[in-house]
Amino acid sequence: MRLIFLGPPGAGKGTQAQYIVRDYGVTQLSTGDILRANRKDGTELGKKAQTYMDAGDLVPDELIIDMIKEELKKPEIQKGFLLDGFPRTVPQAEALDTLLDELGLKLDSTLVLDVPNDELVKRITGRRTDRKTGKVFHVIFNPPPEDGDFDLYQREDDKEETVRNRIKVYEDQTKPLIDYYSKKGIAETIEGIGKIDEIYGNIQKVLDKYK
Ligand code: AMP
Repeated sequence: MRLIFLGPPGAGKGTQAQYIVRDYGVTQLSTGDILRANRKDGTELGKKAQTYMDAGDLVPDELIIDMIKEELKKPEIQKGFLLDGFPRTVPQAEALDTLLDELGLKLDSTLVLDVPNDELVKRITGRRTDRKTGKVFHVIFNPPPEDGDFDLYQREDDKEETVRNRIKVYEDQTKPLIDYYSKKGIAETIEGIGKIDEIYGNIQKVLDKYK
């Protein structure tokens, strides 16, 4: 199964992706996670991406496209993938089309997780990630199990002002991709409001078609 996960920051893509990976045997490729790992390791890419990320702006397309090119060459990608946070601009989507053509691969679906803007800020500011496993929780809506041994942190770019810019960037640059994939007939919108397992149930209804 080859999937794209679209949706504004805080829509719950990371949370739902954990379940999709567990149940459908796809590899999650999160450009945000890869960039954060590069920053942690102090790579050239990480250094170049830093200022954009901290401001909530997009990292330039060339850097992202080169990065995803390398990722799509990896053997584990063969059994299927879920692109989370990529593509985020029309040029990235066009580059992805070219890459997939070269590899002889076709996308099955673009899942669009739809959440209204006022809900997003509430969600993001309560978001916490476990340093060891990368699992994403929310202090109110999805707290970690009490008996677990977690080392939770809040992402730098999850501060309210940065979040508002990230939402604006999504509206301006990423939302046009809904139209891009609708024209290809593969965009499927899922209501991202409600209980996490109910939202996942709706995702499963879509994905079971491609099993
Ligand atoms: P995310 O974890 O997906 O919210 O990404 C965090 C930050 O990484 C974004 O605000 C951007 O600065 C950068 N980033 C992640 N994916 C992309 C992408 N596909 N294109 C440009 N910038 C990206």
